[in-house]
Amino acid sequence: MQEPFRAIVIDRDENKVQSVETREIGLDDLMEGDVVVEVNATTINYKDGLAITGKAPVIRRWPMIPGIDCAGTVVQSSHDGFSAGDQVILNGWGVGETHTGTYARYARLNGDWLIRRPDGISALDAMAIGTAGYTAMLCVMALERHGVTPGDGPVVVTGANGGVGTVAIAILSKLGFEVVASTGRTSETDFLTSLGASEIIDRAELSEPGRPLGKERWAAGIDSVGSHTLSNVLAMTRYGGAVAACGLAQGMDLPATVMPFILRGIALLGVDSVMAPRALREEAWQRLGTDLDLSKLHALSKTIAFDDIIPTATDLIDGKIRGRVVIDME
Ligand code: NDP
Repeated sequence: MQEPFRAIVIDRDENKVQSVETREIGLDDLMEGDVVVEVNATTINYKDGLAITGKAPVIRRWPMIPGIDCAGTVVQSSHDGFSAGDQVILNGWGVGETHTGTYARYARLNGDWLIRRPDGISALDAMAIGTAGYTAMLCVMALERHGVTPGDGPVVVTGANGGVGTVAIAILSKLGFEVVASTGRTSETDFLTSLGASEIIDRAELSEPGRPLGKERWAAGIDSVGSHTLSNVLAMTRYGGAVAACGLAQGMDLPATVMPFILRGIALLGVDSVMAPRALREEAWQRLGTDLDLSKLHALSKTIAFDDIIPTATDLIDGKIRGRVVIDME
């Protein structure tokens, strides 16, 4: 292991004003854990954007190295399950929030948080998927557990150009679902169609206060937007359908009525990736290896350098990033 090494560090002064800078640090600056991972690739998720811009209280310990995801190589381990050379993936568990994160050459982590990187998914592809894509897979699996099948009718995906949205569209289309994509960027119609969406709607159709029940337009939904959008998605879901909710890009509120639940038997399925149990994570990553078309994954992701993380995080929160961003640490 080479010290010192570069890391992004978020700190705050006595007036709680946040600073973000790239610094040289050592292993002693990392929080405790039984595995040291060399970070081969990382990514920027919505939560990383919130942490770096300070737009929401994601960071709960200072100083903090942000970065909630990595694909890496174990370089040191006292954990029974891992030894040097193992290829691993880390998503969530409070890393980059309460535990020093992945925007550094090395991350010291708890081995119980790691899963083995499946054969067939490279480190860069794993981070092109990242927490956003793995959450999209968890949403699809939640709909499947509810019994939703391609024969039931279309699935609406909100925040379609975002990380969760793009990967959700690609997975659903590979599984044979008809996909309705809701976006504020209808100029990206060709891109969303190439991922597998068959209908594009303007997010303005869903983002304003709507009626308790609307026309039944889709059999199911994957929503990363929350607020009025989620309320309207529920109100327009066909009898007996289900909506997987994972995000709050429009807002954390849910100004809905009980009507979709009590008159149409709609199910609202909450999806969390951060504390998801290991078995579910492993299943999701295995499924990503088979149910996500790699050519589509490459089309929806772009690779940037470590030095681009901070400005790109701001762009992501400003809704300027299409799909997924990967940081190649090699
Ligand atoms: P991105 O920033 O990549 O995508 C969010 C998308 O939401 C944007 O691209 C945009 O899509 C849409 N959007 C942004 N602002 C608004 C708005 N004001 N009104 C309506 N739509 C809007 O983020 P991710 O895809 O990575 O994450 C999406 C959400 O999911 C976030 O809230 C994130 O916190 C959450 N999330 C939750 C997880 C969990 O464990 N539950 C895990 C991962 C993410 P378009 O331009 O197409 O309209």
